[in-house]
Amino acid sequence: MKKLPKMIIRFLLLLSLVMVIQFTPIFNKVVNFFFDKNVPLIIIPPMENKIRGVITIDLQVFDKSDPLSINVYLNKQKVEAIFPLLIDTNRFPDGDYVLMVEVMDSTIRKNKAFDTVEFIIDNTPPLVEIILEKEILEPGGFLKGRINLKEKALIEAKIAGENLVLLETKPSEFQNSESNILSFFFIYGIPLNQELPFKEISIKAVDEAGNKTSKLLTYQLKDRKFSTEFLTIAEGKTPLLDLELLRAERKIVEEVLFKMSKGIYWEGDFIPPVDSVVTSPFGVKRIYNQGLLIGRHNGIDYRAKKGTGIKAANSGFVVLSEFLRARGGTVIIDHGMGVMSLYYHLDEILVNRSDRVKKGQFIGKAGDTGITTAPHLHFEMRIRNVAVDPSHFYGGKKNDSPLY
Ligand SMILES: [Zn+2]
Repeated sequence: MKKLPKMIIRFLLLLSLVMVIQFTPIFNKVVNFFFDKNVPLIIIPPMENKIRGVITIDLQVFDKSDPLSINVYLNKQKVEAIFPLLIDTNRFPDGDYVLMVEVMDSTIRKNKAFDTVEFIIDNTPPLVEIILEKEILEPGGFLKGRINLKEKALIEAKIAGENLVLLETKPSEFQNSESNILSFFFIYGIPLNQELPFKEISIKAVDEAGNKTSKLLTYQLKDRKFSTEFLTIAEGKTPLLDLELLRAERKIVEEVLFKMSKGIYWEGDFIPPVDSVVTSPFGVKRIYNQGLLIGRHNGIDYRAKKGTGIKAANSGFVVLSEFLRARGGTVIIDHGMGVMSLYYHLDEILVNRSDRVKKGQFIGKAGDTGITTAPHLHFEMRIRNVAVDPSHFYGGKKNDSPLY
């Protein structure tokens, strides 16, 4: 009999413990329901400014009591809220949006909180406009044009498989451009040996939201015939036809020609560096001293007496001013974007390296230094080391519009 009350006490203690464990959450819930004044905590993670396609928003909501009711609004219009929060932006027109997430707890007070995030929906690929000055060209010519964009985008352009160098310019610098946001200028020299008749230009643009545009266009190369010239270099100068010497000298010159300054220093059309007759045009095949050396004429020869003033074909910076063995007195002017003019066989050089020169300024005096048969000026134009016909740079029929 003595043992029984102790058993009951033990049983009651155990029962009360079970009750406390069982009913505490319910008790807490009841207390929360009536007395919770805390608003839920809601966090919308940071988002990209421009979005496209279907996006997932990793919404985070914290509160003492659950379940919570969550409402999602896009520009005040209620959208379906499934979690994780997915928004199919394709269902909305492009434009500015405010996403509002409203969370309400289930207490008697209905404590509420909301958070908003702003973004732009952009499901439209960037509009890319390509303007070529000419679509029919020839080896030794050059292609120039513009790429215009109506929205910010990363752009990559390739021409005949090679990266095209683009110079970003202000849209206001050219006509009919008010609605363009970005405009790029390019100039590309067509090598004499480029295969006929069609070549591709491919352009890829990716806007800030990630929409992509690819464009492919072609230009046509028409055949151009070049004649052959036979030259006889006087015996005193034949050591200059040595291949090793020529190779070493080409290295000096190319080191300069491959450097590319991104700006544009030229102004309008180029001018012939001397007002004289052409004694040898661009591109002719040349055979020196019965085949001792065979080459291609990369420039134009102008007849010029020793001492004749030679002018800068356009404005720019002198990048080479040196007496070389085969080229003689040499000046190279950088006009920007890889466009350079070269003047050979000068008797006297009037400018120094790094000098800024203006179009028409005298840079040297004609002579017959280097590999020559008589005093003359050898004049070249190169675009990133590709020799192009200088006459294409002059104003008039060959060049319908100013270079830039
Ligand atoms: Zn020449």
